[in-house]
Order: sequence, then C-alpha cells, then structure tokens
Amino acid sequence: MDSELVFFDKTSKTRELLAKMMFFNRGKQSREEQFLLKVFCLSTEAGSDYREQLRNSFFALDEERLWQLSLECKVTAVFAHRLSDLFGWENIPPRWKEFHDQMAGLANLYCEEIDLIARELSIYGIKVIALKNDSIALAFHLCRGCCPMSDIDILIEHANQQQADTVLKKLGYKHTWDSSTISDMVGANPYHKIAPSGRFIFLDVHWEAIGVRWMKGDLGELTSKMVERSLPIPGTTARILSPEDNLFQVVLHNAKHAYRLKPGFMRNLDVHRIIENQEINWTVFLNLIRTHKINTGAYFSLLAPAILFGTRVPAEVLGAIAPPSWKKPLCQFVRSAWFLNSNKNKPRSFIFRIVRMVMYDDIKIVIRNSIISVWRKRRRWRVFFLLRSKIVDLFSKRTRSLATFPIVFHGSGSYKKFFEGSGYGVIFEDDSQEGYVYLTKEDGSKILDGLKLYYHGDAEKISEGDLLEILWHPELKKVGVRYHGKIQAIFDIANRKSYCRTGFPLPNASWCKFKNHLWDDSALSGFEAIN
Ligand SMILES: [Zn+2]
Repeated sequence: MDSELVFFDKTSKTRELLAKMMFFNRGKQSREEQFLLKVFCLSTEAGSDYREQLRNSFFALDEERLWQLSLECKVTAVFAHRLSDLFGWENIPPRWKEFHDQMAGLANLYCEEIDLIARELSIYGIKVIALKNDSIALAFHLCRGCCPMSDIDILIEHANQQQADTVLKKLGYKHTWDSSTISDMVGANPYHKIAPSGRFIFLDVHWEAIGVRWMKGDLGELTSKMVERSLPIPGTTARILSPEDNLFQVVLHNAKHAYRLKPGFMRNLDVHRIIENQEINWTVFLNLIRTHKINTGAYFSLLAPAILFGTRVPAEVLGAIAPPSWKKPLCQFVRSAWFLNSNKNKPRSFIFRIVRMVMYDDIKIVIRNSIISVWRKRRRWRVFFLLRSKIVDLFSKRTRSLATFPIVFHGSGSYKKFFEGSGYGVIFEDDSQEGYVYLTKEDGSKILDGLKLYYHGDAEKISEGDLLEILWHPELKKVGVRYHGKIQAIFDIANRKSYCRTGFPLPNASWCKFKNHLWDDSALSGFEAIN
C-alpha cells in the first residue's frame, strides 16, 4: 500500500495544532498544559519562528507547575529532553536533566538485564522477545533517557515458562506474591529482584503476546505465530516481534488502557516510534486487525498519534478501519476520554464501560468477557470499604490514630498486612538469608518500594518467636516496622519517602520521590506513642 498519503498535511501548522487541541481537550487548558502539549509534540520539522514563540512563552510560565504536570502525565524525561533542545540543558533548572539522566541509567540497566536473561535462556533454546517500550529501547537508536522503563516486559512461550522460571530464580529473581489472580488476568508472571547496585528490577514474563481478551481468535495460537515470526535485534540476544506484530501489540496495548484517566502520551509515542522506525507492511497489519476484529480500537490507537505527532499512518488504513456510523456519538466520548483530564469528574468504571462498548467489534465477545471478568475478579468492594471506614470514622476517633498489628515470627517466609480500604499494604519477607519489608498495593499485586531490614548473620536479625509489629497511622499514611523494641523501617506514603537502618536498596524511582532510604529520626514523628 502507498504510504505517501499522510494523514496530516504538515505544512499547515496552525490547523494541525488546532486539531490537537480539539481532539484532546475541549475544556479550558492552563498555559502550562498547552505548553507541555506543544513542546512534547514538537516535530523536528517545526520552523524556527514557532520554536522562538515557544521559547518566549516558557519564561512566563510557572516552572514548578510545569514540573508537577509533567510528573502527573508521566512524561518528565521526554519533556526534559525536548526542553533542552529548545533552550540547552544549561539554561533550564538542573532537576530536568537529573531526572532525564536517571531514566537513562535505569533504561540502560533494564536493557542489559534483558540481554542477560535472553543469553541465559538461549542456552536452553528459549527465545526471549522484548515487548512494548523495551523493544523500542533495545532495537531503535533513540536516546535511552527518552525511553523511560518502570519494568521489563518479555514474552516467552507458555511451554517454556517452567524452565524459564528455574533460570530466572538462579539469576536472583523472586516471584511477586499474590500474583496468581493477576497472572491469570494478564497472561504474565510478575518477578522482582534487587540488583547489587541497589536498583529494583521488576520483570513481567508474558506467555500471551496480547494481553487483551476482547478480540477474536485463539491467543495461544497467535502467540506461537508471533514468536515464530520474531526477529533478532543486532547487538543483543533478545528478539523483537515482526514490525506488523509489534505495531499490532502496541496498538492494542494503547486501546486497552485508553479508558484510564491518566493521559496516554507515552503509549501514543510508542505507536509513533514503531511506525517511524520500522517499515510496516500495512496490508499485513490490516489483515491482523480484521482477523481479530479490533478495527475500532486500532482506529483510535492510530488516530491519536497521527494527530499528536503527525505519525505517517496512510489515510486508506484509517479509512478501512473507521468505526461504523452507529458508533459515531460514542466516539466523541472516546476522543475526550483518551487524553488530558477531560473526564475527570466521571467515574472510571463508567468511562471504562463506554470505551469498551465502542472498542469491541463483536458484541458477543463483550457479553462473554463481562461474565468471565466478573467471575474471575470477584469484584472488590472498594466503595463499600471506603464508605464503611468513613462511617466508622464518624463514630470513633480511635480508628484515625495509630494501630498496631503484632505478628509472631515463626521462620522464613512472607508475612502480609494489608490496610483495608487504604490502597496499601506491607509484606515482610525473610528468605532465610536476608530480611526485607515491602510497601505494596492493597492486594499485594505491586511493589511500590522496599527496604532491607537485616543481612544474613546480622546480630540484629529477627529470630523465631520474636514479635514483629506493623504500625499503621491512617491519618498520616505512615507505616512503621518494629522489632527488638525499635522502629526499624518507615514508609511515609503521604510524602513518598521511606527510611531504614540499612539505607538499602535504592528507592524505587517510579514511586519514591527522594534519592535515598537513609535513616532520619525525624521520620519517627507520629509514632511517639509507641517508640
Ligand atoms: Zn532523551
């Protein structure tokens, strides 16, 4: 198919910009929001007048607001690099460069780790395929700082999962707890480890190439074909999906998360980067879309980057998969849900339902999957818990103050305490060598931060029969871990800061706002009644 037909006429800058604004937000945007959008989407072909105009507007902005906004949108690293293109690193506050370089360090570490895993598994003839932004960071020659990674996503065929598990454990990986329900839902096994440098590494080993259930066709069979079609990446043992499969995967990933209230800048950028850096056979791609009946989802996933970045999606491709007329009114809604806070006041589940209705091409799949998902998830009654805790609060002051949960240590293993309705929990783990405590999501599905309590052979180590106390301050949102009469570790959730006596490991960059875990007695405030 002819790829000369570009969706947007790049010569008409004003019209293009107007379309971006219309598509993504019809409400009022602050000056900082507008600036962020313009600079993030700045094309290399943009004229010098336009750049000059952007430069001039920067100095009238509130830099702190811009910083916070970029963090919220999860675009700080890429945005920082774009700012440096406009002004030079030396002319913008140093935190932008620090953040960008920290992301580059993390992406390099993750890329080396993917290569290590691929090499170790290749000994057993197992192919490791880097997915999504991992494949982009590994295979395309882009600035690593502009490829922020919060975890590693790799694909390994289902039949090889067990062998892979053994090898991964030898490489120091641990299974993330309570992962059985999650792995069923997304077709992946979550692992984590802490590198000798103290950096957290989160790893998701997928056995299904596509983590969505709203498409037609056998996912297992599709995955096998995709593994077969995968290609080597020069300079590493890890592989990449074929260009069409990779685009298919990223487009579906983009559509899957479209209902989230978080803006999808980076997901749209992934789609853009794949189209710009690989030769796509659009006929092959369209066949994939049609076979699996995901026309509408793919349409929006391609339309958004075409508008944002001027991605070269042939007009015939968009025309071929455009939604039918009965969906048009709902499409307006999807457009506004796709981006920048425009549906802030509507409940997430409501948006999710509408977006899902529009995305599915086959109504039978909608019904079947709704039943399956209700059956699987056994709906968590978050609203109920929230309401209940609010009512309890009204009648009792007691629950707002410090609560202590005692646990008797009875040997190696993991010990969990989840704080109902708060969204958080902690897991203490003694792996017979070392002791760690992790701050997790309330269901234990995701590690937010982790602290080392003791090393093997440490005299302060907790022993069998010792009392371990988890302290929870619901008002301050603070967790303390206490044993041997002393608070050993603290997670200050409200300030996103953690403290421990060992100062190890390094903070998890995607959660923690500070650069280290070093102990500070001031962290004890709020726990005076205990310590
Ligand atoms: Zn960069």
